[in-house]
Order: sequence, then structure tokens, then C-alpha cells
Amino acid sequence: MTSSRSDRPLPEHTHIAVLGAGFGGIGLTIKLREAGFDDIVVLDRADDLGGTWQANTYPGCACDVPSQLYSYSFAPNPSWSRTYGKQPEILAYLRTVAERHDVVRHLRLRTELLDARWDEAAALWRIETSRGPLTADYFISAAGIFAEAKYPELPGLESFRGRTFHSLHWDHDHDLTGERVAVIGTGASAVQFIPEIQPKVEALTVFQRSAPWIVPRLDRPTLGLERRLLRHLPLAQKAVRGTWYSLIEGFGLVGFVDNRFRHPYELLGRIQLRRQIRDPRLRATLTPDYMIGCKRAIFSDAYLPALDKDNVEVVTEGIAEVGPHAIVTRGGAEIPVDTIIFGTGFTTIPTAFDRIVGRDGRSIADLYARRPQTYLGAAVAGFPNFFCTLGPFGAAGNQSAVYMIESQVAYIVDALKTLRASGQRRVEVRENVQDAFVDEMRRRSADTVWLTGGCESYYTTPDGGNAGLYPSWSFEYRRRTRRFDIESYEVSA
Ligand SMILES: Cc1cc2nc3c(=O)[nH]c(=O)nc-3n(C[C@H](O)[C@H](O)[C@H](O)COP(=O)(O)OP(=O)(O)OC[C@H]3O[C@@H](n4cnc5c(N)ncnc54)[C@H](O)[C@@H]3O)c2cc1C
Repeated sequence: MTSSRSDRPLPEHTHIAVLGAGFGGIGLTIKLREAGFDDIVVLDRADDLGGTWQANTYPGCACDVPSQLYSYSFAPNPSWSRTYGKQPEILAYLRTVAERHDVVRHLRLRTELLDARWDEAAALWRIETSRGPLTADYFISAAGIFAEAKYPELPGLESFRGRTFHSLHWDHDHDLTGERVAVIGTGASAVQFIPEIQPKVEALTVFQRSAPWIVPRLDRPTLGLERRLLRHLPLAQKAVRGTWYSLIEGFGLVGFVDNRFRHPYELLGRIQLRRQIRDPRLRATLTPDYMIGCKRAIFSDAYLPALDKDNVEVVTEGIAEVGPHAIVTRGGAEIPVDTIIFGTGFTTIPTAFDRIVGRDGRSIADLYARRPQTYLGAAVAGFPNFFCTLGPFGAAGNQSAVYMIESQVAYIVDALKTLRASGQRRVEVRENVQDAFVDEMRRRSADTVWLTGGCESYYTTPDGGNAGLYPSWSFEYRRRTRRFDIESYEVSA
């Protein structure tokens, strides 16, 4: 239903063009409409709204932050079926919210952004899409941070005769029953799908580069009584959300306060490992060699028991090459394989950033290639009338992304309201304000566990800097983005 209504033609001009129809783009459109803006077009290349939650359909796909918190504060859902909603339920939630708030008529799906350029003379954005051009007074990117699959370079992969796919493009037509399957990578997605496929396959070889910290997930179905209570007592629902928020925010003690706070969390991980893995050698293989929190810790009760099964082998020695029917390890072992599944995560700079070009002809990707640069993760100097959600230093290491997105949405909507009220049209963050912010981020990141915890991750840049996490409490970030600080911007009519 959603997609059929989005085949409407693109207008020649819109007041606000939004890129992306995930949590970011949908939340933004709802709040813009509430503020009285209605001339909004939301572009997304996908067939449906939902972003992450329509793209990832692998078995076991679910959120890692409890759903009572991983949802919009303005659209609470008393009916989550379990602590952590699974992908179909999260997608259904987003569809319901979008329909209830009349967002659907703003969507232009199957519409890929090809190029967006600021035209200084006309003071507007010229946007090229796969379904034609349009112009916009304001352009807001909610293109996400995990939108494209990342693949490892494996010599000989092109000679492989079996099936290969990435967790982001799960091949549901391919039956893994009785197959010899190799999984490359042990990140958050692999941890979710491995327990789902392990019972089906004849043999599962998991190629692990570094062992993730696995901590108890505490997932369970929601009782009917709880749902009734949450439905009739909104305060109870707020209390549940607040409790999860505080528990998760507490992990910031490890992240950016003092990494000695990691010990109780690491103990939890070690106890779980000891209880769920019988073989001491496998336990050693699965023991992380870096501090918890350096990469995002993963919540799972099912992953380690799956690895403990007799049809599973964990290989750490790396891949030398892939042949037509086997993977050869660096140690020379030849492992016969029918299907290779990449659980290797996502590229961190979305390709959309190559296609958004500011007033001096440089793209956002060009800018970030030197170092991540934004103001509050929501504006970029050199890019007038442009804002974004989850930009560098606007993402949280531990907290729900939806919480951070809502902070950015409030800031951006306040910006557009402030401009409208003051009769100004052009807005661009001052370069010195952005530089001071980036310096502050660099200074405050130096002692974080992300940089000192002894791991490599998408939290860091190739030169070991912070790639874009806000290095402090998310409630501090919320306070900073509560109001649009017009004095930090050059504005004109
Ligand atoms: C499997 C998985 C589980 C996750 N679990 C959690 C969790 O538990 N907690 C948490 O906080 N975060 C989680 N995340 C992170 C998650 O991405 C964010 O929470 C959130 O969904 C981001 O929303 P978004 O709207 O910013 O981006 P997205 O949901 O990624 O949406 C971006 C949209 O932009 C569109 N787009 C991008 N480029 C173009 C282009 N050139 N042209 C047209 N359209 C384009 C994409 O098609 C996409 O629909 C998870 C991510 C994954 C992949």
C-alpha cells in the first residue's frame, strides 16, 4: 500500500527535500508537519519506507536496544511482542506511524538520489534523481549510516561456484538445509543469524577476525497483562522507557568516563562464555582481546550456544583464498563450502555523501575523507540550507539511535521555524563554530574506550581518531540541540 502511493511524479520544486525514509526521514517529516511545513518531499531508492528495517530481512534480524526505547518518544507502542522487536514488527511499527501521521503522501520511493548541488546564485539545491530533477530550498539528509554492504577482499572469490550473499541482501530463495556454509564476520548481524541457520546446515564454518563481547540479552515475550498495563497507564510506559534509557546510558561510564568501569560488564561476558561454551580451547578463541565497549558490545543468549554445537567450527587464522568449492585458510586448511554468507557489516560513509556537493564544489565525502567535520552532527560548513541526522559526532556509542535522531529532528525543525519567523532564508553554520566543535570532540574523545580499548572498529578513522560518536552523555547532546542557536550561523534573506 505504501509503495503504490509513492509513484506520484516529482514536483519541479519543493520547500524541503528529505533524503531517506527510515527512522530519521519519517520522524523529521512528522515533526516538520507539526511545525506547519507541508511542502516536503521524501526521496528513497527503496521500494518501501523503513530504511534499515525494510532493507535487512536476514533470519533473526532484530534491534539490540529494547523496543520500548528503540521507538519514537512521541509514538509509544504498548504492544511490542517482546523486549527486542524483530525486524517485521519494527517495520510494521514504522509503517503504522507513517500512515497515522500522513507521511506517506510525501514519499517518493524507488527514487535514488544521484546528485545534489547547492546553486549559490539561485540560493537553492539542484537535485538529480533516478526519476528526474527537482529543486529545493532546504535539503536534509537522513541517509543513515548503515545503508550499504561492506565486503572483504578475498582472493579468488570470483572463481567460487557456490552461492554468495551479504546479510543485507539475504537470499530467501536459497535453501541452506544440509549445506556446508561459511560465515565471514562475527559482528552484530552475524551474531543474530548464526543461531537461526546453525540447526539447518550440515556444517557451519565461522571466520572470526576478532571475538565480539557477548553479554546477556534478557529478551522475553511481553505478557498480555504487561501490554494491558502499558496501554492503560501511559506513565508506566514512560517509566519502562526511562529505566531502559538509564540502564543503557550507564554504559557511558565505560565509554567516556573511565574504562575501569568495564570490569563488571566484562565479568558478565566471561560468566556467560564459561556457562555456554564447554570446550576450553573454543572458549579461549571466543574470548575478546580488547576492552568491552571499544566496539559495540552485542546482546545475545543464543550465539555462543550455537557455536558450541558439533556442526560448527570457528576459524581465526584468516582466509588465504577462495577456490571453486572451498575456502583455503592462511594455515593451508581447505574447507569445502557450498554457500558463503558475508556478515561483514556496512560501509560507514554512505555513497549518498559522494553525491551531495556544497558551495565550493566539494562533496561531503571529500570533506570527511580528511576528517569528520560537522557542527553537532547536524550541519556542515560550506553546505548552506543543508542539515542531516546522525552526522559525525551525532551518533551515540551505546544509546538508541532513535534518541539521537529525535534530538537532531528537534534542532532542525527549530532551525527552519526560526528562519521562517525571522524572514531569513539562507543559513550556513560558521566555519569557526564548526572548527571549535570538532576540536572539542577530538579533545573529549582522546581517553574514550573507543580509542584506547585496543580494537579496530567503525568507531575509528584510519588514523585512529573518533569517526563520529558523540563522546559524552546523550542527555548532554539533547540539551545542546534543544534550541537552534542562530548565533552560530550566517543567515541572510
Ligand atoms: C540490523 C541492524 C540492527 C540495528 N539495531 C539497532 C539498535 O538496536 N539500536 C540502534 O540504536 N541502532 C540500531 N541500528 C542502526 C540503525 O541503522 C539506526 O538505528 C536507524 O535505523 C537509522 O535510521 P536512519 O533513518 O538514519 O537510516 P536508515 O534506516 O539507514 O535509512 C536511510 C534511508 O536512506 C536511503 N538512501 C540512502 N542513500 C540513498 C540514495 N542515494 N538515494 C535514495 N535513498 C537513499 C536508504 O534507502 C534508506 O532507506 C541497527 C542497524 C542494523 C543494520
